[in-house]
Amino acid sequence: MPIEPLPSFTPQARQLWDAIPAEHRPKLLSNVWCGKCRESVTITNFTGAVKRGDLLLVGLCAVCRSDVARVIESA
Ligand SMILES: [Zn+2]
Repeated sequence: MPIEPLPSFTPQARQLWDAIPAEHRPKLLSNVWCGKCRESVTITNFTGAVKRGDLLLVGLCAVCRSDVARVIESA
């Protein structure tokens, strides 16, 4: 599976992303709920930002190109 050509992250988001073990990242990216497909999909063309201390990924469903988002809570 192709992993990101590194997308646009804010510096804070980049810090949180870098703190995630590399082997966990593909799973996070390929397990995003799409309300249109009604199943877990891969997020593409995503950007990263920090919202209330959590990493927020916003991008497009790889299947239908709908907007999808995923919050990754920091431990
Ligand atoms: Zn979809």
